[in-house]
Amino acid sequence: MYKRIVVKVGTNLLTDTKGFNKGFLKSLVRQLSNLHTRGKEIILVSSGAIGCGAHRMGFSAKPTALSEKQATAAIGQIMLMQAYETAFSEKGIIVAQVLLGHDDIKNKARNVNSRNTLNTLLGWKTIPIVNENDTVATDEIKFGDNDTLAGIVGSLVSADIVIILTSVDGIYDKNPDDNPDAKIIPDISDIHEAIGNIKTDGKTSLGTGGMVTKLEIARKLNLVGIPLVIANGNRENVIENIVAGKKEGTIVREKNGKVDSKKRYILMSLKVKGEIKVDDGARNVLLNAGKSLLAVGITHATGDFAFGDAVEIVDSRGRKIGKGITNYSSKQLIILKGKKNAEIQRMGLDNYYEEVIHRDNLTVYK
Ligand code: GLU
Repeated sequence: MYKRIVVKVGTNLLTDTKGFNKGFLKSLVRQLSNLHTRGKEIILVSSGAIGCGAHRMGFSAKPTALSEKQATAAIGQIMLMQAYETAFSEKGIIVAQVLLGHDDIKNKARNVNSRNTLNTLLGWKTIPIVNENDTVATDEIKFGDNDTLAGIVGSLVSADIVIILTSVDGIYDKNPDDNPDAKIIPDISDIHEAIGNIKTDGKTSLGTGGMVTKLEIARKLNLVGIPLVIANGNRENVIENIVAGKKEGTIVREKNGKVDSKKRYILMSLKVKGEIKVDDGARNVLLNAGKSLLAVGITHATGDFAFGDAVEIVDSRGRKIGKGITNYSSKQLIILKGKKNAEIQRMGLDNYYEEVIHRDNLTVYK
């Protein structure tokens, strides 16, 4: 059913107070080896570099200073790879280390190179093990977290499914930490509608990325046409079950009509530099009439963005409704917002594009 599979495992699954969680590692490697033997193509996105490094250094907690996080990752990453190399070679499988930074995805030539390398490794029947290049990543250039990285990698290689393994059971209808009656949603067919109904306020125990991040990845992968499963990595045979189509955790279904490659690049590979808030009229034409975004429908611009940056569009209630490339900077929009193009021209203001975001550079979340 699924041939090309991206599996992400988090630090809290891979490590425990004694360092590596050997039981988890064994189960992970066994399941991935079984799938590999059955001809599946697997990419493993593995966290744990900072966690392992911190343990090796005898730190009681993960460091918070950037240079210390980077240094700790440098120590932990080789431990991680050593553990995988040993465990997979016992199964006769060759693994490869791929460390990516956001520039490798944003820059178009490097994006193609990253994809080609991963495809070559899969063609050679190896298992690429991906992590962020933490040792050189600063906050501005970070993916954010490995959930996001798994989504990006899934899109990059056109995976058939992305599986995010965590230490909780899936996506709940409300925060399970505060609500004992919270229930897992097993199957989400319309993630864009579901996001509005899931109460993500408060802290959640859904890993580094948290629930909000996972939902954001789910909605983007949906538009790219890739299903996402979020499940508990401690459940027996969870990966094999998911790949066999059995129910585990939450599956967020993909959309049939995928966005084209240009929109996929904007959606998956560019960081959001700000938000443009629109009125109800603009919301309606963007979502339902396939129109471009004009200045007249804009009520607010937040963030510091320039011509050519990626921004998200939010409606009057703060719900995200799309992502695109802006033709105007945040500073220009503060002046242009709410104005008709004729008025802008009469006032002698810069109006070199009719659209603030052209439809061809815009994907709506629906
Ligand atoms: N890249 C980080 C690490 O290996 C983990 C980031 C994350 O878990 O989201 O420690």
